Amino acid sequence: MTGAFTVAEYVRPGTVDEALAAVAEYGDRGRIIAGGTNLLVDRPDGVEALIDITRLDLGYIRSDGGLTIGALATVADLRASPLLSGPYTILKDAAKAHGHALISHLATIGGNICKAHPVLDFPPPLLALDADVTLAGNGGERVMPLEEFFLGFEETALGEGEMITEFNLPAPAPRTGAAFLKMGWTHVDMALVNAAILVTLGPDNKCQEARIALGTAAPVPFRSKQAEAVLIGKKIDDALIKEAAAAAVRQAAPMDYHRGSEAYKRHIIGVFVERGLTEALRIAQGKS
Ligand SMILES: Cc1cc2nc3c(=O)[nH]c(=O)nc-3n(C[C@H](O)[C@H](O)[C@H](O)COP(=O)(O)OP(=O)(O)OC[C@H]3O[C@@H](n4cnc5c(N)ncnc54)[C@H](O)[C@@H]3O)c2cc1C
Repeated sequence: MTGAFTVAEYVRPGTVDEALAAVAEYGDRGRIIAGGTNLLVDRPDGVEALIDITRLDLGYIRSDGGLTIGALATVADLRASPLLSGPYTILKDAAKAHGHALISHLATIGGNICKAHPVLDFPPPLLALDADVTLAGNGGERVMPLEEFFLGFEETALGEGEMITEFNLPAPAPRTGAAFLKMGWTHVDMALVNAAILVTLGPDNKCQEARIALGTAAPVPFRSKQAEAVLIGKKIDDALIKEAAAAAVRQAAPMDYHRGSEAYKRHIIGVFVERGLTEALRIAQGKS
């Protein structure tokens, strides 16, 4: 990061095709800007052109059996959408937990995912809701599970010349409950730990599906498959919840940095998995 951030060119394409043409034209010298709430803080070196995508028609949130969310849907859009109900509410809860009212009309879901930092709030709910991400490039579109998009710390599967256009979330099965949890040092801070947890019960009341998505629990947001495996096919009770929480703590590899030590984060991860599972189970059971 440098003190000043000056670019020679600022382009504002009106369509995805125009944006992709600009991304291809500038290559490494250009950078997409959506809300700018990460980029203008990072102020990366060597950027000569900003490609402002905010005129593209990608701010939608649509119900189509599942849910389709354009990359430019903002934190404010997600907070206000009546479509984010039932298990999708965890995405609204993450938007409500997004620190700053002042930037809520700028910050986009696409920018949040592209930044791919473990403290950010949208990866856990999108992972728990089993989202796919659509990447557009000059060669066409490709769709991948969001889980495969995060490759490493601030490293994604976004290829050269590509941008995210939308996210697709399948319709949740009946008897599904979900919970989002976040802890920061203040209510406007980034997460020290965040988590999104989803449970689906089968007709026999056993756990049919469990997704336990953790942020800040590793250099990349991820699903704790080991914790999920503890639950699948079993009747969930307090002892099993504790076992799953212990598995998530074992699988976690939190980074030790200024927001909290590795040991403290591990402790909170255990607490969050226990609380989140208890809450998701309660909702799946139809209890108020
Ligand atoms: C004061 C403050 C508080 C914050 N609090 C929170 C918080 O509580 N929780 C949280 O999760 N985040 C928080 N953030 C971080 C930030 O607001 C979010 O990550 C936001 O969602 C980023 O979106 P953006 O549109 O601003 O991204 P930008 O800054 O515009 O872009 C971020 C990165 O993504 C790339 N990019 C953007 N859109 C696309 C696209 N469609 N396709 C390909 N590449 C793209 C850009 O090139 C850039 O590299 C905070 C930021 C600030 C400044």
